[in-house]
Parts: sequence; structure tokens; C-alpha cells
Amino acid sequence: MAKILNGKALAATVRDEVAAESAALAEQGITPGIAVIMVGEHPASAVYVRNKRRAAQKVGVTSFDNDLPADTSEAALLALVDKLNDDDAVDGILVQLPLPDHIDADKVLDRIRPDKDVDGFHADNVGRLSQGRPRFVAATPKGCMRLLQESGAELSGANAVIVGRSNIVGKPMAMLLTNASATVTVCHSRTRDLPDVVRSADIVVAAVGREKMIQGDWVKEGAVVIDVGINRNAEGKLVGDVDFDAVSERASAITPVPGGVGPMTIASLLANTVLAARLRRGK
Ligand code: NDP
Repeated sequence: MAKILNGKALAATVRDEVAAESAALAEQGITPGIAVIMVGEHPASAVYVRNKRRAAQKVGVTSFDNDLPADTSEAALLALVDKLNDDDAVDGILVQLPLPDHIDADKVLDRIRPDKDVDGFHADNVGRLSQGRPRFVAATPKGCMRLLQESGAELSGANAVIVGRSNIVGKPMAMLLTNASATVTVCHSRTRDLPDVVRSADIVVAAVGREKMIQGDWVKEGAVVIDVGINRNAEGKLVGDVDFDAVSERASAITPVPGGVGPMTIASLLANTVLAARLRRGK
């Protein structure tokens, strides 16, 4: 049976590290701050944003709330980003996605100052990561790397297969694993013979958004499996992309859903915010 990689417990450790760093900054009169912008009402986003705000306060990071109505214009949103870019109390700016259709999300994300882009979505930070000199790494892949570290898996030379190629999970994950000297394959909806590709993996990262997509016989004995997916099953329960029961018979380590990658995402975001506060002030 696979070892369960407990993201909830590891996230608590990361939050303790962040709290210690922010306490050290507080002694120098610096309070890290994150501005969270949410446009319109999304029940799932609202829960996530509330959790972020709560977690921030617990580790000594001030959270500045910007909840805007759904009909906010793109120009007004860009003006708010400009204001936060210039606000010295704000170290990190986070725009909760998705944005309403009338707003160009890329334009908004590109407007965030790269040194305040704690989500790591700005082209400048993505470019740095791809060049192997990362600054802010997107929170979910950053959390996945910490979980892999915790699993004890040898990354150098390992075959890593990532299912999903989004800008927020799959692609940055591919860059992180490449930088860690894994041999990386990125799969997507056009990939041929996906089960066979996954069978070649020592490390599997599933980031698709389809319940039980990764089946037991797709996974090599002893592989380490990171399940990023968040889906609601027919009974309304949160489940990942991996058939957990079947895969945990073969994997050496696996993340559960919930309690795996999810808690690590928020903890990683807070770590990025404290890093932003330190870098901006040369600490
Ligand atoms: P996207 O929808 O942006 O990307 C999904 C990817 O899966 C795409 O690259 C798509 O391929 C690929 N895909 C879809 N169908 C198949 C298929 N049949 N075979 C192979 N690949 C397929 O999703 P995200 O990356 O944003 O999120 C992925 C999942 O992770 C979701 O469940 C999301 O809720 C969850 N998530 C969890 C987080 C956490 O903190 N735990 C944070 C972020 C996301 P193509 O590009 O060809 O369309």
C-alpha cells in the first residue's frame, strides 16, 4: 500500500516556516501584505479566497480585500492593479480567476508588477522559471514540489509524466521537474496512448479535472502519484483525478483529495508573499 502524502500536515509545517519568517520581518518593522482581488461572485472562489485571507492573518501577513462587483470594467480593474502596484504596504497582488468574460485576464495579470506577482503567472516570472532562475513559482506546482520532496522520491533522472498542460499547473510543473533533472513528458487531450505513457512514469502528476481518470493499471509499481484534480463526484464528495483506491495498491506514495495538494497551494502562496516582502526590501 502506498504511503499517504499528508498535505494538510505539511502545509501546517510550511505555514509555521512562513510565520517564523514574517515574525523576523516584524521585528524590523515590516509586515508583509497581500492584496486579493475578486470580481463578481463565484461560490468556489469565495471559499478559496476566504481561506486565503484567514490563513494570511494566522501567519502575520496582512490581507487587503478588494471585492468588486461583476460589472466592474476592465479599465477600473487595471486602475486598481496600478494603485496596488504603487502601494508600499502591498507586497503581493493576487487576482482571483476566473474573471468575468468582458475582462481580458491576460491583460490584467500582465499589469501586476512582476515583483508583486506572488501567483507567479506574469510572463516575467514564468520566463525566469523556464530559465532555471525562478523568483515566484505558481503556488500549486510549488506545493507539489514540496510534497515530492517530502515523499523522498529521487527526481534526478526519474521519468515524470504530467497529465495537463495549463499555465497554472501543468506547464510550470513541467519546468520545475525539468529543473530538478527529471525526464519530463507533458500530456494533454491530444496525447496518444495516454495509459501507456503514464505507465512509463516514476512520478505521475494528474492535473486534468476528471474524476478517476488515472486508473490503477495505468500506474507503474512503486510510482509516486500527485493528484492535483478537484472534482465533485455523484455523491457530492470532493475527489481528485486519480482512482485513489486502485492506484494506492500500486504506487509507493500518493496524495489524497482532499488533504493533499489543496492545502499546500495556500501555504505556498503565503510563502511567496513573505518572499516578495523580503526581496522588495532587500532582506
Ligand atoms: P485546465 O482545464 O486549465 O487544464 C486541464 C488540462 O487537462 C488541459 O491541458 C487538457 O488538455 C487536459 N485534458 C483534458 N482532458 C484530457 C484527457 N481526456 N486526456 C488528457 N488530458 C486531458 O485545468 P487546471 O490545470 O486549471 O486544473 C486541473 C485540475 O486541477 C482541476 O480539477 C482543478 O480544479 C484542479 N486544481 C487544483 C488546485 C489545487 O490547489 N489543488 C489548483 C489548481 C487547479 P488540452 O490542453 O489539450 O485541452
